[in-house]
Amino acid sequence: MPEPALTVDELLAIDRRHVWHPYGPMPGRQDPLVVESASGVRLRPADGAGELVDGMSSWWSAIHGYNHPVLNEAAREQLGRMSHVMFGGLTHEPAVRLAKLLVDMSPEGLEHVFLADSGSVSVEVAVKMCLQYWRSLGRPAKRRLLTWRGGYHGDTWQPMSVCDPEGGMHELWTGVLPLQVFADAPPAEYEESYAERLRSLIERHADELAAVIVEPVVQGAGGMRFHSPAYLRVLREACDAHGVLLVFDEIATGFGRTGALFAAEHAAVTPDVMCVGKALTGGYLTMAATLCTSRVADGISRGEVPVLAHGPTFMGNPLAAAVACASIGLLLGQDWLAEVKRIEAGLRDGLAPALELPGVTDVRVLGAIGVVQLDHAVDMRAATEAAVREGVWLRPFRDLVYTMPPYVTGDADVARIARAVCAAAREG
Ligand code: PMP
Repeated sequence: MPEPALTVDELLAIDRRHVWHPYGPMPGRQDPLVVESASGVRLRPADGAGELVDGMSSWWSAIHGYNHPVLNEAAREQLGRMSHVMFGGLTHEPAVRLAKLLVDMSPEGLEHVFLADSGSVSVEVAVKMCLQYWRSLGRPAKRRLLTWRGGYHGDTWQPMSVCDPEGGMHELWTGVLPLQVFADAPPAEYEESYAERLRSLIERHADELAAVIVEPVVQGAGGMRFHSPAYLRVLREACDAHGVLLVFDEIATGFGRTGALFAAEHAAVTPDVMCVGKALTGGYLTMAATLCTSRVADGISRGEVPVLAHGPTFMGNPLAAAVACASIGLLLGQDWLAEVKRIEAGLRDGLAPALELPGVTDVRVLGAIGVVQLDHAVDMRAATEAAVREGVWLRPFRDLVYTMPPYVTGDADVARIARAVCAAAREG
């Protein structure tokens, strides 16, 4: 017999006492919204209040919306075979198909796929690959990473070390985390003087650098900043010239979000290692992947320890892999670029009035991403409530109100999301 459902109040009381939320204190100080179900682009709160249009795609991931019949069917079909099986010594069709799909759709030259279980872990794996590559080549001193300030690469240890050191996310660990090399965050437009500083920093530190790791074109959770793709070519050339590997973290930008399947394509650059996650399974299940070139894989294989020592229990989870294959199939089976461009146009129109609001310093839109920058820290509660009054779910943070809607969001809902962003910027 299933237990009787909890009332919303009972549920919140238990949540407050026992459940740790992202970046949350214990015990909880704010009551989260209880979601009962979600369908299409709408979240249905449990308290009977009206549905909310999702302006966040559950943090970049639910690109096809919720409860999608094709993804549901892929999950059901795979559940009937097996939901999980260890990957050690075994393989299966969903993982193999997914690896092939990823290799075929990603920038030319990425050949090998490690299936990780979250974005942060895929970055850990990328860093391990790079450090081990140099170790195998007899260059163990090459073990630091260079990155841009204002970046975000996840909450586990190595990724934290390349997050924005002043962003407030991981300041607590300054001096404890591995000490990496930071360049200033890239300017929005191409500036030769900045490119020159980047080149000389890479040259100066080349003997100790394993890799440069960046989010291409959009720095996400570290500040929602956009920059010229030309900097990616600068990085590629400088890394090649000075013997440093290049890692692109496409966990947020991948699968079409910026108007290219991967942001690296805006610059026609192939990194040595690429991380993807978030939208990989259409937001259904937790899975990420680290792709690398044959140069990296061969280098590791030639080492004293010729294996990549990483093997999570849920590696290659068949259920997640089957849904990922279906999600990629859905994406590539439609004119996804037209949908992303349609949302881009809607956000441009709808967010333009925000520029007139007091305290708004910038409005920027790229692909299916819209950002309103404030000159003050946003009052999260007031901003969220303003958006909810407009019938939209947003999650403003720091000095930003932003949206990255599912690609299936219709024009009227895009306009509604834009109105909610403006309201949140005004009242936050
Ligand atoms: N890299 C980037 C660019 C991200 O945006 C995120 C998640 N916000 C991560 C890494 C970490 O991914 P996850 O939350 O799945 O561990």
